[in-house]
Parts: sequence; C-alpha cells; structure tokens
Amino acid sequence: MDAVLQRTQRLRLAPDLSMLTPGEHAAVRELLAAGERLNRIYMQQRHAQAIPAADYLAHHPELIKQRDLFWMNIGPIATTLDNTREPFLTVEPETPAKNMYPPGTTQAILDAFLAAHPERRADILDDRTVVWAANAANLRRALSVLDVHPVLETLHPGLRARLRAQQTYLSVPYSLAYADDLFFVADRLNAAAGDVAEGDPAFARYLRLRARDLLADDYEGGDAAWVTGRFAGHLNAQIGAYETYDDALYGVKTFFSLSILVRDRPRSQELQAALGDIQNVENALPYEHHREVRSDIPVAVYNIIADFGQARGTNTASILPNEAYLARQYGRTILMRGNILLNTDIFQETQRAYSAAMIADQAGDLTPEGGFYRTLWHEIGHYLGVDQTADGRDLDVALEDTADLLEEMKADLVSLTSARILHDRGRLTDAQLRSIYASGIRRVLQKNRPRREQPYQTMQLIQWNWFMEHGALRFENGRLRIDYRRYPAAVESLLREVLAIQRAGDPRRANAFVDQWTTWRPELHEVIAMRMRESERTRFALVTYEALDGPQR
Ligand SMILES: [Zn+2]
Repeated sequence: MDAVLQRTQRLRLAPDLSMLTPGEHAAVRELLAAGERLNRIYMQQRHAQAIPAADYLAHHPELIKQRDLFWMNIGPIATTLDNTREPFLTVEPETPAKNMYPPGTTQAILDAFLAAHPERRADILDDRTVVWAANAANLRRALSVLDVHPVLETLHPGLRARLRAQQTYLSVPYSLAYADDLFFVADRLNAAAGDVAEGDPAFARYLRLRARDLLADDYEGGDAAWVTGRFAGHLNAQIGAYETYDDALYGVKTFFSLSILVRDRPRSQELQAALGDIQNVENALPYEHHREVRSDIPVAVYNIIADFGQARGTNTASILPNEAYLARQYGRTILMRGNILLNTDIFQETQRAYSAAMIADQAGDLTPEGGFYRTLWHEIGHYLGVDQTADGRDLDVALEDTADLLEEMKADLVSLTSARILHDRGRLTDAQLRSIYASGIRRVLQKNRPRREQPYQTMQLIQWNWFMEHGALRFENGRLRIDYRRYPAAVESLLREVLAIQRAGDPRRANAFVDQWTTWRPELHEVIAMRMRESERTRFALVTYEALDGPQR
C-alpha cells in the first residue's frame, strides 16, 4: 500500500460553477446521486465482494490507506508498481470473469459451450447482459425481478420465456440484474430533466431518453439525442455502460460510468471555428478517395464536475458511442476534458519525463496547450481518412487485432498533419505548432518496451522508430533532438503508409509492417526509457471532486 500511495498524485477537481442556473444546480445534484449509484454497480460488476468491502471500510474510518486505494481503484483490487492486480483487503483475487460471468468461468469453458450452442452466442456475448449460472435459485431471482418490475418485460418482449428456456447459462439484461439501482438512476435522470427542461430542452430530452435506455438496455434513442442534440445550457453528461476494457474474458461486456461536465464556452467556440477547416485537412491527407466530411462534428471542451465508475480517473477525452451502426447513423460526440488536459500537476509529471529524454535546449518546447490541441485533433482524426477497405469491408473485420493500433496511429498522424495545415492557414502561431509537434514526440517515447498486445504503446513505438529513420528525431549524446524542418515529411510518409495498409485491409501486410517497425535497441530506446523512468515521481492519480464533498477538508 505504501509503495503505491507514495507514487500517487492527488488531484482535486473544482471547476467554476457560478454560471449555472438554479435549475442546472438542481440537475447536478440529481446527477451526482445517479453517479454514486452507477459507481456502486460498477464496483459490483468488477468484483463479487466489492460492495461488502465498501461497507466494511465505511465502518472502519481508521483504515485511511485502504480507503484511498479503494477510492482510486473503485474496488478492493489495486494495480501495483509492477503492473499486477492485487487485493489489499481480505477478498478473493481478481479473475478474468470478474463478476460478469459465473465464478470460475474461463474462456476455454465458455468457448466450448458456445461451439456446442452457437445459437446462444448473441445473448451470452451481448454487451449488456450479465451471465449467471442457470440454476433454480438464479432463475427464481430473475423472474421475481420481473414480477416486481413488470415494465421490464414490456421493454424486453419475451424475456420471461427466454429466461425459462435457457440451459446452463442465463443471460440477464443489466436492467434486470441491477434493477433496483437502475430504477433509482432513471428517477434521478427524469428529475434532472425536469430541472433543466425550461432552459435546455434538448438536454432534458436526452436525459429522459437515457433514463428509458437504461431500463431497455438499448441506448439508440439516448445516443441519437446526445450526439445530435444542440444543448443550450452549460451542462452535459455521459451516462451508462459503454466501454469494455474491464471485461478480461471476451472484451464485450460494457461497464457503467457517469461523468457530469460543464461546458467551457470560449474554448468550445474557438474549436467550432477551427472545424471550418476540417475539409482542408481531409483533402491534404496523403491518399486518394477523399470523402466529404461534415463540419458540424459535435465536439466541445468541458470541465469535469465529477466522474463515476469506469470514467473516473485522468482520461483526457471521450468519443462515443462505440457501436459502428450508431456512429454511422448519428456520428460520435467528442468530449474534451479540459481540467484534466490542462491540469498543471499532470503536466509537470509529463514535462519531467520529456526533459529527461530531450536535449536541454528543446526541453521547454512542450506546453499544456500543445497537448490539448494534439489530443483534440487526434479525436477529430478518427472522423477523417480511410474508414473502409477498398473492397468495402469494415476495418476492424478486415484487419483484426491490428485494426485498433492502425486506427489510433492514423488519428495521431492526422492530428500532426492538421496542426501543419492550421498553421499554414494562419490559425496557429509558430510557437503553438512547435508545442504540438513536441507533444507528438512526448506521446511516442516509452518508459518500457511495449508488449505487442498493447495497441497504443506499440503504435507509439512505431512512430518513434519511423521518426528516427526519417530524420525527424536524432540521438545525440544519450538524448533526443527534434528536427522540426524534417518533421512534417516524416509524418506525411508514415501517414501515407498507414492509410494504404488500412485501405488494402490485408492483416498479413499490417502485421509485417508492425514487426518491421517495433525494434527496441538497448543502446537507444532503453537509454531514453531509463532516463524517463528515473524522472518519474508519480504513476497513479487519486482524483477527488469538490462537488461530492465540498471544499477541501
Ligand atoms: Zn483515439
């Protein structure tokens, strides 16, 4: 516990809320209550003993270190400095099944069942069902929830008969598995909608639809209202189960989160203006077959009031929803998290690593603003470039496990390309361009040799190696120097390669490319990595929110 907590940075988020209307203040209170409840479901999703452990800690205020670790990890399992996951209270160790599949389930066991029962694939691997053992007690429990909340049967036609017929495994919709909590959350969302209906009717409609979505386990209505709605007030909120990172068995189960956000109006308006150039960026990308890009992408800058469940931490941006059919039909909303992106404490840790790696006279090129713009255009970059193979297949289907890595690298490189174009068009100063370029380099330097299954780190190492090979980076007396003159051409040539691989959709070619560009040399990479590791003061972040417990104790 001490080793982890000594390497933990404490951040407190306390954005200015003085501009909120009385209705918005009331809505925030409702959303905070909804968030606390979704946080509780999230604990339960990840560990069967998380709720008893939380209750135990609530009765033992003297266990300060355990409480900090529990808050930071949202459960009784902590990530250690060796990147392992260990219990710090007397609970069962974590398993890949978490609490989303019956205890002891392995991929081998479930694969065998699905091979014998292919008709069960869709319901068992559904992104919003919990898998329970199909025994009499569990079936009774599920049916009794339907008795208490008959509206769930209306929203899931035929559910009772399906549950009765299921053998070996029950696929229990989230709305049924967490019924009492989700009805409470739906009530809070409806109340929040009432609070803002007058000043911000589009936001109110989204909240009402999302309340219904949570009970139907179908988010299309709320997502459509969220992505395409023009919210007139100051608030936004990400609500529901979206990301699958916590499902270590199949990567399909979504985990609950809620983020309450207050819009940064001046920065958001500046952003909308920059989006006027988005077609110019698309047209400048090094490939044929340009597409027409909408310039009304729903992107804005927010400050976080509070985060719950899967969203808690130091995420810099979200782009949602993930499902391809929803993204195609409605687009995706981009939420830039300003009070994380521009946080000076987080920046100082980044700056330390950067100074350790770079020659002295370039160490000051990095700025928080540079990171902000680079991240912003990374997210917008997901809207640009190749979105299907030449023969019309979806990229994730065609390129399999290399698809994510290439898509993220494309977004990084589109971001650096857009910086050059916005600079050419007079929207960015020389200093701003330089700091975005510096941030692009900070992004790709690694403290440890990446494992191939780490898509972000792997594509960053590819960029690092490409930039060295193409003269954008030079190794000088144990440090790195950026050649800003040769930087744009290095970005362009790599982006050309990535777009060509995506369009070809050949996983063998993609893998050969990854193998070729992921070398790690002791006399280069390891030297830089060690310098950066030695500069590290904090690895973890414990984030608290003024909205939850008032001004600092
Ligand atoms: Zn991305």
